[in-house]
Amino acid sequence: MELTDSGLLKAQAHVGGTWVDADDGSRFAVRDPASGAELARVARLSATETMRAIDAADGALAKLARLGAAGRAALLTRLASELERHAEDLARIMTAEQGKPLPESRAEVAYGRAFFEWFAGEAPRIYGRVVPPPSDDKRVLVLRQPVGVGAAITPWNFPSAMIARKLAPALAAGCPMVLKPAEATPLSALTLAELASRAGAPDGAFNVVTTDADGADAVGRALCASPVVRKLSFTGSTAVGKLLAGRCASTVKRVSLELGGNAPFLVFDDADLEAAVEGALIAKFRNCGQTCVSANRFLIQAGIYDAFRDRLRGRMETLQLGPGDRDGTDLGPLIDGQGLAKVERLLDDAREHGADVLLGGARVDAQTTFYPPTLVEGVTPQMEIFREEIFGPIVTLTRFDDEAEAIALANDPRAGLCAYYYSRDLGRGFRVSEALEYGMVGVNTGLISNAAAPFGGVKESGLGREGGAEGIEDWVETKYVCFGDCHPTG
Ligand code: ADP
Repeated sequence: MELTDSGLLKAQAHVGGTWVDADDGSRFAVRDPASGAELARVARLSATETMRAIDAADGALAKLARLGAAGRAALLTRLASELERHAEDLARIMTAEQGKPLPESRAEVAYGRAFFEWFAGEAPRIYGRVVPPPSDDKRVLVLRQPVGVGAAITPWNFPSAMIARKLAPALAAGCPMVLKPAEATPLSALTLAELASRAGAPDGAFNVVTTDADGADAVGRALCASPVVRKLSFTGSTAVGKLLAGRCASTVKRVSLELGGNAPFLVFDDADLEAAVEGALIAKFRNCGQTCVSANRFLIQAGIYDAFRDRLRGRMETLQLGPGDRDGTDLGPLIDGQGLAKVERLLDDAREHGADVLLGGARVDAQTTFYPPTLVEGVTPQMEIFREEIFGPIVTLTRFDDEAEAIALANDPRAGLCAYYYSRDLGRGFRVSEALEYGMVGVNTGLISNAAAPFGGVKESGLGREGGAEGIEDWVETKYVCFGDCHPTG
């Protein structure tokens, strides 16, 4: 990996402002998903070191408070500058460990940076309230204070931005953090820790506890069980989110969960066909379909169905598969063999139940996890591929006749993160936006994420919102203060 600043590549964990190994010296391999090559051997921490990280974070609470809102805003601004200065190196590290095309990695670094900029603006605006008292001897104040030490557990699909979305509001509010990044992509997390230090973050304000897949449960248990940790913010699978939320109940910890989606992408007869196809490509193929807001089910109205399918197929045939650092690559590899096996299982089930594969439909070779853009039609709600998040480059087509049927199909699964639709009818725009049981709706666009917007889901897709004015709420606690003996003079 060629980097301008080789000091950004770290293999130790970051606890209390210092780089540390596991107590027993153990390490695990981080690999390039495109080639299988080993990129680094990273410290494999356990529960004991996690407890130390929690203590370090606890010690940083007072340091963040002493900075004041202006000081925390300045810290976030400096961190954003560091991210900008090192954007190219960060993108290269990300592509190496995650596999996404370099332009997408660059876009993710910029997206992550935007959260530090946004929450630098929010930090001085975490207002409390002075409430008119019910009687003239009282005064009523509502304070908004940091929740306390936060824990974060993040996934591999956005190795940097998923952390930024949690860390930026946490620091803005004055909450130190202990992060356990995904085992596949710890390097991007560690670069963030290095840049936070360079930006002047107090020791212990941002701790990164790295471990492998086998170690995740022990680290997670330590975070969930600790009474010092007052909040867990998790992004990942619905199954693990439910498990962690259950564990957090023992200490009545606050939880924010950003879990799996199963996004419907509706195209109505009156849609702009060209725009719908371009939006579909973005919503489906970004990060090779491995995002929680990836379009999972394409619901197409009968009148535009054939034209949409044929045009999309033509565009899909032009997509280039390859390593993320090769010019012109549109789709990188799937993250690992497990991801590939899931895609294959879902497609087998769809085939068995009568779906037709029009394009793609088989892995590229036996050695790698590259999977081609795949188009399937005749998909029904009974098929697993309709009910489960695919996390791969498969477009499934389902035809509908009218708006009511479209809404019923869209709202069918238990996920409720993000939905998209294309229509030029203004009345339908209001009706459909209101009827979709999702936390986020993209209308005539396939790309909705930005730092100014509250990102999050309903139903089994999660709790809480990240980004926007709402994003700070997850990191502040409300305290009511009542002053007595305040009779007005005279
Ligand atoms: P994905 O399918 O995207 O890998 P996961 O939910 O398995 O989703 O992983 C998301 C994050 O949750 C990763 O950091 C992973 O290590 C972590 N994780 C998985 N299982 C556990 C667990 N039992 N306890 C704590 N963290 C876990």
